[in-house]
Amino acid sequence: MKIENEDALDNFVICHKCFTLNEEIPIADGSKACCSKCGHILYRYDSKLIDHSLALSFTGLIFFILANLFPLLQIDILGTEQFITIPKTIVSLFDNGFYIVGFVCVFLIFIFPLMIFLINILLFTLLKMERGEKLTKELLILLSHITPWSMADIFFISLLVALVKLIAFGQIHIGISFWALMVFVMIDIYITKSIHLSEIWMLRKRILFNKDKN
Ligand SMILES: [Zn+2]
Repeated sequence: MKIENEDALDNFVICHKCFTLNEEIPIADGSKACCSKCGHILYRYDSKLIDHSLALSFTGLIFFILANLFPLLQIDILGTEQFITIPKTIVSLFDNGFYIVGFVCVFLIFIFPLMIFLINILLFTLLKMERGEKLTKELLILLSHITPWSMADIFFISLLVALVKLIAFGQIHIGISFWALMVFVMIDIYITKSIHLSEIWMLRKRILFNKDKN
């Protein structure tokens, strides 16, 4: 196998299991390509991926907004009622002088998850419109940098742990935001686990570059 230049590498796919370099070939809609050596799935082609991802991203964004608008928990301790919301949690971190923790939290549980969903919406809208050759590339690169730093799922798990501990101190009522956050986290996990960036990259290549040939 001889590779002339860097652009020629675009036509090859590396297997994540055995690291064999496979040549990328066009496959039929709904089918998948496997590694020539170990049989591990290299890529899939699903023309409905854009519509599904766009719908999921919009739904996720709506639940994210709901999760930030409504109360997460209501705690009654010794007759005093207190509502907890996600923005209030972050603000109270700053109020108590935990600036670094507050700053990290703003990015990990608010800015990055929000950015991922906004980028996805923009990216899939552009792909649907068959536009933005350069912008879609930049967005995909940005997405690959941000995705590992989105930690809404970890925040939700720590919330569950805190909930178990708080039950001993008073009465706790779960708010709308808690359920909205749960749905958001499930959509977030589904998108990150089932829609691989490499598949979107290939879909982009197929949509934007085949368009010119037609
Ligand atoms: Zn392999």
